[in-house]
Amino acid sequence: MAEQPEGSVLFGVFDETSDHESRVALTPDIVTRLRKAGVTCLIESGAGNKAFYTDADYEAAGAKVTTAQQIIEQANAIGFVDRPSAELVKKLKAGTWVIGMLGSFTDEAYVDELKQQGLTAVAIERLPRQLSAAQSMDEMTSQNSVMGYKAVLEAANAYGSFLPMMTTAAGTIRPAKMLILGAGIAGLQAIGTAKRLGAVVTAYDVRPASKDEVESLGAKFLDLGLDFSKGQGEGGYARALTPEEQAAQQAAVDEKAAGFDIIITTAKVPGRKPPVLLTKQGVDGLHRGAVIIDCAASELGGNVEGSAPGTQVTEGGVTVIGAPYLASEVSTTASNLLSRNVADILTHFIKDGVLTIDPSDEIDQAMVVAGTKE
Ligand code: NAD
Repeated sequence: MAEQPEGSVLFGVFDETSDHESRVALTPDIVTRLRKAGVTCLIESGAGNKAFYTDADYEAAGAKVTTAQQIIEQANAIGFVDRPSAELVKKLKAGTWVIGMLGSFTDEAYVDELKQQGLTAVAIERLPRQLSAAQSMDEMTSQNSVMGYKAVLEAANAYGSFLPMMTTAAGTIRPAKMLILGAGIAGLQAIGTAKRLGAVVTAYDVRPASKDEVESLGAKFLDLGLDFSKGQGEGGYARALTPEEQAAQQAAVDEKAAGFDIIITTAKVPGRKPPVLLTKQGVDGLHRGAVIIDCAASELGGNVEGSAPGTQVTEGGVTVIGAPYLASEVSTTASNLLSRNVADILTHFIKDGVLTIDPSDEIDQAMVVAGTKE
């Protein structure tokens, strides 16, 4: 068992804010909760500014506001919105616990660095989300939910017309037709938000359960006439489609997409490159002024062929926004939720005031990617 002296958990959080990141992995309300659990919180000065929390707010909640160097030297557990940079990993002392989105499914070399440094690494992306004990730790759910909401606002902002139907003295404006591809946590939140704003919403997902979920929110399910139900992934998640299935899906989506004004894509497969759902041909089939928000856009690619983080306008006048940072744009709430998730992961590992790995615990088995499980 990996252990520290009793009652000595010092939890540190760095300032991760950048051009694209406004979230913080610890908010003042959670400092109060953690103190009750016997945890001392250290936070880098300025870390909460972009989420609208000042150093004084953290101090009032009982955290110690300090420098990155002091956190490196004193903390025995560190929480991240993202993950520590390679430079920071080299500075962390052996035995430090690191909790973050470590990219462990796709970046083995990074996990090796964590091991070599002697760190105990807890990978949030490996949380067994299907367990009821894991619900309050589920950062993927909390952040995807924020992302789905913000994606609709982003689309509404970029679109040159109204979302709702509107009858004015100068005529009636028809509602926007919106298609949501990927009806998981983000997609369902996007449906709810788009419906509240008055758009006419259609959605699609490969998971067989999603038809009922989509319809229960008052949206129409897009039937592509394809059945991908065989060999569904574990825990109700989508599996990666075969190349043939993917080609059939792309052709069907490209054809149906042409009738929509706004398309929001949120389709992912855990730990893999996101599937391309809409090809260049599909994008070119959309009318001038149509808007696409690709929430899956990343360095690994996105759900829309050729999309990348940022905004592109095609020759045909379609605005394609690669939007991987949407949760960060709702910085206060996204930070509150994320901070609660990270704190619940931390306290899960504290037994009798000590950071401990229980090799028989399903959550520990799944999430600890570096450090001893024996
Ligand atoms: P996600 O972000 O990994 O994926 C988003 C959506 O994209 C999923 O609904 C997925 O089915 C869909 N998708 C993947 N490939 C696709 C393709 N080729 N075409 C169309 N859609 C595709 O997942 P998520 O949204 O975080 O969660 C997905 C589902 O997992 C949830 O809706 C829920 O049912 C389940 N889930 C269960 C628990 C639990 O059991 N407690 C917790 C979290 C999520």
